[in-house]
Amino acid sequence: MTTEWPPLYDPAYMPSPRDVYWNAELETMDPDEREQTVVLPKLRAQMAYAYKKSSFYKRIWNEAGIEPEDIRSLEDFESVPIITKSDIRRDQMENPPFGSNVCVSADEMARVQGTSGTTGKPTAFGISKGDMQRIAEAHARAMWGFGIREDDTVFIASFFSLYWGSWGALMGTERLGATAFPFGAGVPGQSDRAIEWMEEIKPTVFYGTPSYSLYLAEKAKAKGLDPAKDFNFRLLFFSGEPGAGIPSTRKRIEETYGGICIDSGSTGEMSPWMTNCECSHRQGMHLWQDIVYAELVNPDTDKRVPYGQEGITVYTHLERTSQPMIRYLAGDVSLWVNDPCPCGRTYPRLPKGIYGRADDMFVVRGENVTPTAIEDVIRGIYGLGDEFRVVITREKTMDELIVQAEWKEDVNTEEISALKSRLERELKARGLRTVVQMLEPNSLERTEFKAKRVIDQRGLYEEIIGKE
Ligand SMILES: [Zn+2]
Repeated sequence: MTTEWPPLYDPAYMPSPRDVYWNAELETMDPDEREQTVVLPKLRAQMAYAYKKSSFYKRIWNEAGIEPEDIRSLEDFESVPIITKSDIRRDQMENPPFGSNVCVSADEMARVQGTSGTTGKPTAFGISKGDMQRIAEAHARAMWGFGIREDDTVFIASFFSLYWGSWGALMGTERLGATAFPFGAGVPGQSDRAIEWMEEIKPTVFYGTPSYSLYLAEKAKAKGLDPAKDFNFRLLFFSGEPGAGIPSTRKRIEETYGGICIDSGSTGEMSPWMTNCECSHRQGMHLWQDIVYAELVNPDTDKRVPYGQEGITVYTHLERTSQPMIRYLAGDVSLWVNDPCPCGRTYPRLPKGIYGRADDMFVVRGENVTPTAIEDVIRGIYGLGDEFRVVITREKTMDELIVQAEWKEDVNTEEISALKSRLERELKARGLRTVVQMLEPNSLERTEFKAKRVIDQRGLYEEIIGKE
């Protein structure tokens, strides 16, 4: 076991194709032993480094009266202040362009990346040369874990822009020695081209968002193709949206493409973002704790919740020299367990995936609702299309939840009202009183990226009335 920090990885190292693990020792170690002998020492080294190099952490920790040497256990670590996206954003505004957490000089920089800006102004990241190598190594390890090998061709059907997702998938593919097909997305006509290439080259692995894979499948079917027969995907892996961890969406993707569906991804800030990922057994995403240390915390105490319980995701880099995130609140809701996985890895898991970002949740008539719960119901009903919208309105004082769903092309008109009642009934069984509006196939807009499926119009009534 290497003890230097940041760790050095041999770029020439490759396991044998038959090996289950990229790094058997780290992946199957007794979890307590791994925490004591690997995670904690790396955590302390990462903190000492950040304290010395980052005026961002020096200020925050000084204010909290914390010095890195004080942190001698993972329990001690729970007293380190949590940082948020708005802390990073504010710091970058005050200290443009990368903020006061850069830690490396201009000659050590390799890349500028950023977040997708889903929830506001994107944040920028300057990534060091060493970090690029370590991110590639981490992603190769994760991708090996879900079953990608050198003879695979990975079709990357996602934006190549500031967004980390596509680049992370590409870096892992290259380090692993598989063939990369960095196709991209978002250019007019590109979905049609994607279908042509998927049929012609027959890549074996797909990467993108779950929404986009379903959209491509719909488009392919409209051209008379069968994605399970005319393409050759044996494995599809996803990030950027919770879909791949939602049982009925997963089932729909697997039935459509005839390959296995793998959920992955923490958040762009945390790259390597694949340290949350499923193995080929698909028992929920493993948390690869020796690369990025993940905690599920109780938001009232900022301390870890016991295994078996729900919490909010907080992540810490263990080997980043540029812009390390230390106790970064990603704010996703999930549940974690540490019972054994058939793959033999001893990392904790998120058996239900990430239910959605805490900021995607909405409250209707006093109940917390996650869009993923609605998605699970809709995608589980054969006869309903893949796309849907949730519209929340308020008439006077009462919130109303309207779910718009499409019927599939092959549904007879006399079946539509039965589909509507079934959807209303199944949503009601989950505690959601809704009005379902049935729409013709393809009436809702499709996305090539992250779908925006919740439209909150509760302010509209007051807005209009207020203006009169
Ligand atoms: Zn596993």
